[in-house]
Amino acid sequence: MRVCIHRGTKQIGGSCIELEHEGVRILLDLGLPLDGASDDRSLLPQRTDDLAAVIISHPHVDHYGLLHHLQPATSVCIGAAARRIIKAAAPFTGQPLPALEGFDLQDQVPVSIGPFCITPYLVDHSAYDAYALLIEAGGKRLFYSGDFRGHGRKRRLFEAVLQRPPEGIDVLLMEGTTLSRVGEKDAFPSEADLEKQLVEHFQATPGLAMIYASAQNIDRMVTLYRACKRTGRTLIIDLYTAAILEATENASIPQSDWPGVALFTPERQRRQIVRMQAFDLLKRHASNRIYPEALPGLASRSVLLFRPLHMDDLDAAGVLGQARFIYSQWPGYLQEDASQKWLNWLAGAGIEPSYVHTSGHASPADLQRFAQALSPKQLVPIHSFVPEEYPRQFANVRFREDGEWWGA
Ligand SMILES: [Zn+2]
Repeated sequence: MRVCIHRGTKQIGGSCIELEHEGVRILLDLGLPLDGASDDRSLLPQRTDDLAAVIISHPHVDHYGLLHHLQPATSVCIGAAARRIIKAAAPFTGQPLPALEGFDLQDQVPVSIGPFCITPYLVDHSAYDAYALLIEAGGKRLFYSGDFRGHGRKRRLFEAVLQRPPEGIDVLLMEGTTLSRVGEKDAFPSEADLEKQLVEHFQATPGLAMIYASAQNIDRMVTLYRACKRTGRTLIIDLYTAAILEATENASIPQSDWPGVALFTPERQRRQIVRMQAFDLLKRHASNRIYPEALPGLASRSVLLFRPLHMDDLDAAGVLGQARFIYSQWPGYLQEDASQKWLNWLAGAGIEPSYVHTSGHASPADLQRFAQALSPKQLVPIHSFVPEEYPRQFANVRFREDGEWWGA
């Protein structure tokens, strides 16, 4: 089995790995770099015309965001819920929608593609339906961690792999997102810790509580719903969030028609719905729908899942007095131009944002436990801005270059 990391040996975002055996080629992930433009074809690997399949580890744009450039006939293997989430999100986010036809990845159900045997391992990550991948071909075993952690709502999956790790791993491609944070506290907060923090914030807020979190972070949505329930507050979501939650098709994930959940479509989203002709979608989620005139009365008993398109409606409703704003995403986004508008809007309203968040990625200590359990013949850094940190943390580290072909 020959391996080429097209992108990812020295960066987070845009992950793409090509594997070749007996003339058959597959890709693991085809991500958009964090600073890349999705219409930039120069970001693609050279040969994409005769791929046997593309395996997508999880539905984050930095792992699938270039898929739409492939010929529609290309087989795309991804989790079934991940596939639905990408389809549900695309009309709202403007992310180009790829064809996405192919096998579904299922936890520890092997799939054969030519000479490759691929066994997905469902993992704990901030993206829903995320997998690590064991790839076997030509007597070699390569394990690709994808993105993962050990402190989310699916942490038992992480512990299960530590207890019964796949054996005889020749190559481990392991993400190291958090290695630039070595020296920080080893244990990252769990979702249960965040739930407790949110309850305290909500209890201390006389007016409307707003939280800015990703609707696609399903663990966080569950945490939020639970914190609302514990404080007697209604969780107000928009139609995009309702569509993402529905796409999980998971009976234990909060939905727009659950008690304690309300649907509010801000004016800018109403125009979006008309443009998308998404009236059936709106109708499906309208059982708990509320309208702008209800906002002032509900404010002190609600938590609004904030998105920047809410700003005009919140101004018009006059609900910012005694309100609180909680930021629950990666703090790096705060430096981006797109964040300045809502940060200025908050400052104008005299609201200082609070921060309640935990990483979607394993802590350095959990990465060490994972690498020790798998004990690979070679551990190749991927999805990290500090690959040079690996040899200080792990055994058998072998550096590779982007674009270099090597034998597993
Ligand atoms: Zn991810």
